[in-house]
Amino acid sequence: MASLSASISCRSSPLVSPQALLGEPEEPRKRSHFPACRRSVLSHLPRSPACRVGVLPSLRRRDLSKTIHASVTDVSVDIAMKEVQLPKGETWSVHKFGGTCVGNSQRIKNVANIVMKDDSERKLVVVSAMSKVTDMMYDLIDKAQSRDDTYVFALDNVLEKHRSTALDLLEGNDLATFLSQLDGDINNLKAMLRAIYIAGHATESFTDFVVGHGELWSAQLLSFVIKKNGVHCKWMDTREVLIVCPTNSDQVDPDFPESEQRLEKWYSQNPSKTIIATGFIASTPYNIPTTLKRDGSDFSAAIMGALLRARQVTIWTDVDGVYSADPRKVGEAVILKTLSYQEAWEMSYFGANVLHPRTIIPVMRYDIPIVIRNIFNLSATGTKICRPSVSEDDDSHKLESYVKGFATIDNLALVNVEGTGMAGVPGTASAIFGAVKDVGANVIMISQASSEHSVCFAVPEKEVEAVAEALQSRFRQALHAGRLSKVQVIPNCSILAAVGQKMASTPGVSATLFNALAKANINVRAIAQGCSEYNITVVVMRDDCIRALRAVHSRFYLSRTTIAMGIIGPGLIGSTLLEQLRDQAAVLKEEFNIDLRVMGITGSRSMLLSEAGIDLSKWKELLKEKGEVADLEKFVQHVHGNGFIPNTVLVDCTADSVVASHYYNWLRRGIHVITPNKKANSGPLDQYLKLRALQRQSYTHYFYEATVGAGLPIVSTLRGLLETGDKILRIEGIFSGTLSYIFNNFTGKRSFSEVVAEAKQAGYTEPDPRDDLSGTDVQRKVIILARESGLKLELSDIPVDNLVPEPLRTSASAEEFMKKLPQFDQKWTKKLEEAKAAGKVLRYVGVVDLLKHRGAVEQQTYEKDHPFAQLSGTDNIIAFTTTRYREQPLIVRGPGAGAQVTAGGIFSDILRLASYLGAPS
Ligand code: ADP
Ligand code: ASP
Ligand code: MG
Repeated sequence: MASLSASISCRSSPLVSPQALLGEPEEPRKRSHFPACRRSVLSHLPRSPACRVGVLPSLRRRDLSKTIHASVTDVSVDIAMKEVQLPKGETWSVHKFGGTCVGNSQRIKNVANIVMKDDSERKLVVVSAMSKVTDMMYDLIDKAQSRDDTYVFALDNVLEKHRSTALDLLEGNDLATFLSQLDGDINNLKAMLRAIYIAGHATESFTDFVVGHGELWSAQLLSFVIKKNGVHCKWMDTREVLIVCPTNSDQVDPDFPESEQRLEKWYSQNPSKTIIATGFIASTPYNIPTTLKRDGSDFSAAIMGALLRARQVTIWTDVDGVYSADPRKVGEAVILKTLSYQEAWEMSYFGANVLHPRTIIPVMRYDIPIVIRNIFNLSATGTKICRPSVSEDDDSHKLESYVKGFATIDNLALVNVEGTGMAGVPGTASAIFGAVKDVGANVIMISQASSEHSVCFAVPEKEVEAVAEALQSRFRQALHAGRLSKVQVIPNCSILAAVGQKMASTPGVSATLFNALAKANINVRAIAQGCSEYNITVVVMRDDCIRALRAVHSRFYLSRTTIAMGIIGPGLIGSTLLEQLRDQAAVLKEEFNIDLRVMGITGSRSMLLSEAGIDLSKWKELLKEKGEVADLEKFVQHVHGNGFIPNTVLVDCTADSVVASHYYNWLRRGIHVITPNKKANSGPLDQYLKLRALQRQSYTHYFYEATVGAGLPIVSTLRGLLETGDKILRIEGIFSGTLSYIFNNFTGKRSFSEVVAEAKQAGYTEPDPRDDLSGTDVQRKVIILARESGLKLELSDIPVDNLVPEPLRTSASAEEFMKKLPQFDQKWTKKLEEAKAAGKVLRYVGVVDLLKHRGAVEQQTYEKDHPFAQLSGTDNIIAFTTTRYREQPLIVRGPGAGAQVTAGGIFSDILRLASYLGAPS
């Protein structure tokens, strides 16, 4: 076993040699140095790379791997004596636990349980650093190299975080061993940071060495916890196994053959069915500690999976799987059950940071599936990334199935190189990208117009200045000569990528995508669609990016009939409608795929706005608690401008002509309008005609069934007749529930004023019954039907029989009116008796006479067997006499007033809208 002196020599050896950390090959050290390190197997020793710095570049790789691995903490067998062969293949299951999964002691215990519950024969578990630790480590470097001496306190925090976690989890020898390693590591880091502080600079190797400690600690903690549960396990410092070659684009390329050999070797000395390995960290071929770069633990797991030819790699994180878009940006995002390797790669490349983009390549080579799962929700099955099965290929031909997900990359700039001198000149593109490469910038997408007039590409914003300078200088002459007109930088851009295996080859997908962007009023700055057929990439301004993402996402993922609604006027009718919507919403969504979201409710004083939809079971309370000062323009902007719901409807439940005056504008903006408010259709003729003309030209809908006869199908019946070519001759009806009641009950048993009082008592009249008796409400209904039938009349063209006696029209109050009304009973009694004598009844009707091009509101008499004479209660009745229905008019009859039926009429207009927008019928 290792001697104490060996361990001391290792720990007290200078940290990592400057050459090594600078990435330069070192002078060969005396060979005798190695055995000391190799034999330093006391379990309490820190796994400092100090043991490995004296690498001999001249040594053959195989020799090298022999010397390196030996610093493993708990090698308890003589290396030379016992070599166990690594069994590769399906018996292995690889897990990777992200930072949040091991974020505290409780979570580490939970991870241990999950690992132990996996009944695979062999398990290799890759762990990230505890959440935030890698950031803390990078921060140490930043502080030290900017000579901010608070790095010392920051390091104390790192120590404390791990110490307290260890105290929670471990005891006895395990605890002592871990704490002693931790202290040793922290001391080394202190010395190293001090050096960085003095130099005012940290090399990449220094940085990688420092930041990788989080994984060393978390992996050891987890392995101790598993062991404590009586399960045999080994922990692996992956710097001894994973060998990667740095590239110049902030990436590393794994050396698979070398890593595989090292893994075999490592395993032969540390055989175990449960291995806990560090994510993120690796070594260069010269054994310099390095990392797989930010978020690289996913990549570590994939490499391990490939080296072991594992059955599956499970990536445990804090979301239920890969969503169709970043769930932090798109609340509506849905979990994708499966993704192909290519789709997953594209999603992650374009910013879905749930997976490191390079994770796919190693596992794809061996067809190893990756499953993304949520450690906080074990009931979710997660997302499986694998080769698409044939059945899924044939899955469905729905548009949605061609687009799997959307992702975005922010902080980009576009560079546009333009000029007539570019066309047909070979080598221009190469010269441009040569210059870009020289400054080490990473080109994320390229788009070139086929005229070759311009080349445009996106680079990270922080690199654009250098790129622009390089291009200016590279093309100085061409710019001067005018062959190139400009090198233009467009800052503050984002990329939005739509990903789906077959989307680019499917007609209509990109049209739909661009249509969604256009509808959301988003300007597309550049487009690229590679031949890969896996993605379409668009560049938009950064400020538009989230809106763009939501717009396209909703177009492909939300029900096509998701409608954002704004309810104006939550009075009696408005609140009844909200109740009906509340009761019916779930059924509509489940059975008819109609998703109605009330995004705002506004009264005249306050309004309630919501980002994703108001909870209709408590809108009144919410309006009280969270309501803001009503502002109609802001309200409309909010409901319509949400950007992620494809359709907007404003439902005007007021009787206000000011609100009605906005309809034209709303329709022009593509907002559908539904209303029981009669003011727009009975207002000035020119405005009405303008409104209807706009409605006819556009695909924006304006429905107003409830303006006449509440929920009775009157406007729609009339339209149906007209559209099918019937000719309307006459429309005649009892359009007022109140006046219907009064005349149905004025049969001689009681006086006229008594019947009016009774109607008032029963709540059938307006608070001031003169509003009903004046006939203006009926007049508005008549003009609406007259105009609908094609008559170009003003409201004033409709004469009205005003039932309010002349002297009472100016009475001060409703009470005074009611008091004086009996004075006029005699006149009414006389009328009634005359009618009776002629075998008739009195009725108050509206008439549209298409033959005479006129309309009227009048008190009329009807034969006792006429349908109008049979009416009871507050029913409305409307008779359409047409060329087809000449002998027997078409009659619509039923309750034509009251909040429930009026709200029902509005609701059916909303559903009509949904079906016009494509809902199933
Ligand atoms: P870990 O530390 O476990 O590796 P990450 O933070 O790297 O976790 O990745 C998970 C996070 O990725 C999620 O919390 C989520 O916010 C984000 N994310 C971005 N895009 C997506 C997407 N399309 N699907 C799922 N998560 C996404
Ligand atoms: N801990 C590393 C990071 O935060 C690697 C990882 O967690 O994937 O970047
Ligand atoms: Mg991650």
